Amino acid sequence: MEATDTLLWEIDEEARRLEGCSLEEILTWGAQRFQHSALACSFGAEDVVLVDAIVHEQLPIDIFYLDTQLLFKETYQTRDRLAQRYGRTFLSFQPRISLGEQAAQFGDRLWERRPDQCCALRKVEPLRRALQGRQMWITGIRREQAPTRARARVVEWDAKNGLVKLNPLAAWTSKEVWDRIVARRIPYNPLHDLNYPSIGCWPCTTPVQPGEDLRAGRWRGTGKIECGIHQ
Ligand code: SF4
Repeated sequence: MEATDTLLWEIDEEARRLEGCSLEEILTWGAQRFQHSALACSFGAEDVVLVDAIVHEQLPIDIFYLDTQLLFKETYQTRDRLAQRYGRTFLSFQPRISLGEQAAQFGDRLWERRPDQCCALRKVEPLRRALQGRQMWITGIRREQAPTRARARVVEWDAKNGLVKLNPLAAWTSKEVWDRIVARRIPYNPLHDLNYPSIGCWPCTTPVQPGEDLRAGRWRGTGKIECGIHQ
């Protein structure tokens, strides 16, 4: 998709207007305005709220996940509970190489030595394939999650991937997310109850301590706080 001046101007205007709109209004606008939209779902708290809203509003939005083959078993169980509850299929995008091939080519436990390379192979490249042919993707990014996300707008131009990016929960607080989950009895990952506010691959995710940043448990001790699909 081409980032014309007209499109960039529209995105800027809509980012301002949508700031005060509900989750349902934002998703509906995005689904009507852009074709072949998709939610990138990690089955975390924000994403299950988005799945619930997309299904409830009957919006023509695909839902996919990046199966790194290193997800927690609780994450796969959450996927299956959501599929059963909502009757939706979640598209799976996997790395081009297996864990065995990765170990043979780059050495065992690449995530401990070169996590950026591991994320590039197992997340960033599969995301590129997941976004091919799409005009818009949707994420569960919230501004309060991390300093790297503090300036996220409700709708943005994603120059890295060449399409529109919708962040309908950008302004939401953690409390608002959990109030929605409880009110609508949305299935969620049980690891959230064990102090995992942000859940990725099992080798790179730990619980957080009181007062820590919501993403402090990701790649702990490495200085890395993003996998590369948003930054
Ligand atoms: S989060 Fe860790 S295990 Fe998962 S792809 Fe990135 S470096 Fe590899």
